[in-house]
Amino acid sequence: MYKQISRFSILLVLSIFTSSVLFAGPVHEFLSSDSKSKTNQEEEGPKHPSAPKREIPRSEETSSPSPKIEAKVKKEKEESVASAEPSSRKSKRIERRKKGKTKVSKKDKQETKEKEKETASKKYENSLPGMSELPPKTQYDTNSQNANAELGHGKGIPVLCYHHLVGNQDPMGGYNLDPSLLEEQFKYLKSIGYQTISLDQFYQYQQGKAGSDFPARPVLLTFDDGSLTHRDVLVPLLKKYGMRASVFIYPTVISNPRYKFYLSWAALKEALDSGVLDIGSHTVYHPKLPAMSRAEIRSQLRDSKATLEAKTGRKIQDLAYPFGLFDVRVIEEAKAAGYRMAFTVNPGKNVPGTYAYTIHRSLVTWGMSQSRFNSILSASPPVKIQLGVLDGSWVKPGDSFPVIVEGLDPKSVAIKISGKEGIIQRKSNTEYIIRIPEFKKTTYPAMTVIGKTPSGKRSETQFLFVNRKEFKKDPD
Ligand SMILES: [Zn+2]
Repeated sequence: MYKQISRFSILLVLSIFTSSVLFAGPVHEFLSSDSKSKTNQEEEGPKHPSAPKREIPRSEETSSPSPKIEAKVKKEKEESVASAEPSSRKSKRIERRKKGKTKVSKKDKQETKEKEKETASKKYENSLPGMSELPPKTQYDTNSQNANAELGHGKGIPVLCYHHLVGNQDPMGGYNLDPSLLEEQFKYLKSIGYQTISLDQFYQYQQGKAGSDFPARPVLLTFDDGSLTHRDVLVPLLKKYGMRASVFIYPTVISNPRYKFYLSWAALKEALDSGVLDIGSHTVYHPKLPAMSRAEIRSQLRDSKATLEAKTGRKIQDLAYPFGLFDVRVIEEAKAAGYRMAFTVNPGKNVPGTYAYTIHRSLVTWGMSQSRFNSILSASPPVKIQLGVLDGSWVKPGDSFPVIVEGLDPKSVAIKISGKEGIIQRKSNTEYIIRIPEFKKTTYPAMTVIGKTPSGKRSETQFLFVNRKEFKKDPD
């Protein structure tokens, strides 16, 4: 009687960092906190529908250096929407209004300008994920046999999600990864027998059609946004270690003089010509898709595909949702636009039959320790989970539906919705009734099913909803 939305993976977490960045979700990480959302909305261009934020649950917010990527969101929005009024002009106008329309002297103007500059840079700094707290060059142990033994590698494919490969703050703070740490991870992956696969291979596997030559320990490496470092750092490292990866690109960032950290079309071509990269779409300008009308979603998905195909001469078959955000309409449009798979940033391992439009990915962030990296790889084999609603559904506080969880010790099962208790009734050893709790401005609540396998290993799977209450009206 329940619609089965997916045969989902349950993530086994060996790490003690249970509410770490990795598992905290995907989506939260990219999104700003409440206090900032107003500012952000003020500065949005007219093309953007109101784009409410998915809040970081307090528990997760405090327990990890969960990067808030407000700056990225802000920057990308500002830069990608040509029609957007420059924020400085806008704030100047507000400033003038405050002054009661009195004539502003040249000196005052100058001071205001400097103040704005200062405020803007402070805002930017405050919004960065605090990477200084973390070691940029963690050494990974590739010699010890223990690492291999402890790995407890299960079935399924981990998909890793990276961004810029730089050893400092710009442009994405804690979403940057030092190139030397990436190399440590590559060495480590190789030392424990992982082999990187292509998007085609991943798709074959997801369809249950992996060939006999499919690697025993597969991993899919993905790099989002179109960073210049993907040509300059990633490609040489992939060649050096005999690996491959996939990049997800949004066209407005490419060959845009305002984006100094990003590729040009020529550089992208050069990177692709290396033969070690696959490419997919990341929409046209990286919006929050669930906040858009269906027509806007459609054009984001179709136009980006068409542009990337025209510019690169490659077939674009796969999609990565910006900020990992999707809803049921987005999935329908992705299918209709001809994508074969779409990647979230909901952690979890993927198995044959994992729903093609909600593929799990785990973020790899600044200073990631070996144990945390390991915990992604060593996720438990997925178990079957059925929800009473579709993944990506629009819900509101008070909505309730059943969730079926098989393969976990029933006593260990907890279902958290953006950090709050979700279970209101345990009907049987496999059936739970959950209710969407009240939130303060949580626009994209994540539902996490946590538990232990019969052998005592930790397991965690994440889903995504859209909180209808945060929208004054439906985007459509
Ligand atoms: Zn992105």
